Amino acid sequence: MERICVDKSALQAVDDYCEYRRLVGDDDGGKLFTPEEYEEYKRKLLPQRLNNRLYVSFGVPGGIDCKLIGPETQCFCTHRYKQHKTDFEVVPSQRPLVLPCQVRGCHCSAYQYVPQIGLIPVRCRCKHFPQDHSEATDHLCNKCSSCSGFNSSYTCGCGQPSSAHQTLVETKLEREARGQPIGKDVPYAAMGGLTGYSSLLDGYLALEASGSDPETEDGCQQRCAASRIKKTSTGASGSIHCKERPTHIEMQLFS
Ligand SMILES: [Zn+2]
Ligand SMILES: [Zn+2]
Ligand SMILES: [Zn+2]
Ligand SMILES: [Zn+2]
Ligand SMILES: [Zn+2]
Repeated sequence: MERICVDKSALQAVDDYCEYRRLVGDDDGGKLFTPEEYEEYKRKLLPQRLNNRLYVSFGVPGGIDCKLIGPETQCFCTHRYKQHKTDFEVVPSQRPLVLPCQVRGCHCSAYQYVPQIGLIPVRCRCKHFPQDHSEATDHLCNKCSSCSGFNSSYTCGCGQPSSAHQTLVETKLEREARGQPIGKDVPYAAMGGLTGYSSLLDGYLALEASGSDPETEDGCQQRCAASRIKKTSTGASGSIHCKERPTHIEMQLFS
C-alpha cells in the first residue's frame, strides 16, 4: 500500500481551508477570498452571526422538534439549507421568518423541509416528488393537473401526519423560550438547528437517547445509546462498543 506523507504545513493548510469553508460557506461565490477580504469578512460577519443566529427545525407546533435542519439538509426546492439566506444584519421582525433560496433562477421564497424516507423525499398525494412541483409558494405540480399544491400523506415518526408539521425558523431567544437547546455560540455559516451531535438524530430518537443517558454530553455515547435503542427494538441484545470518533460526523456535515 502506498503511504502518503504530508508535512505539518500542508496539514495546517488543510485545516485552514476547512475552517474557511465552515465560516464562509458559499459566500465567496466560488472564488476564494484574498487574505484581506477574508479578514474583512470575519470582522463583519462573525459578531453578527453570534448575535443573530437563526435556528431551524421541523415539527408540529407545540410538539417536539422532529428534525433539526443542518447546512446540508435539502429544501423543497432541492437546494441545501446553506444555499438559502441565513445571515441577517438585522433579523426581520415579521413572523414567520422566511429564508429565501439564493441560487440563481430558483423561485423558492422560504426554506421548507420535506421529510425523507432514507435518501428519498416523500411523495405528494398526486404521486409526484417534491421536485416535480413548482418551488414557488403555491407548490403546484408540473406533471399533473389534479394536484392543488404539494401535500404528502406520510406519517412522521412522531405519529403525526407530515402535513401537520411546519418548518420553524426562530431566534435564540425564541428557541430558549420554547425550552429547546440552543447549544454553544458558533461562528460557522448556516448551522440551522444543529446544537450538538444528538441533533443528527430524528427528534423522537434523540429524546430517547438523551433520556436513557442524561448525563452524557458526548455525541459518540449518545449515538451508541440510540443504536442500543434500535437494537433493543429489533429484539437483538448485547452491548455495543463505540470506537468511532465523532469527528467524522462533523466532516460529513461540513464537507
Ligand atoms: Zn432553491
Ligand atoms: Zn429552498
Ligand atoms: Zn402531480
Ligand atoms: Zn402534487
Ligand atoms: Zn413529527
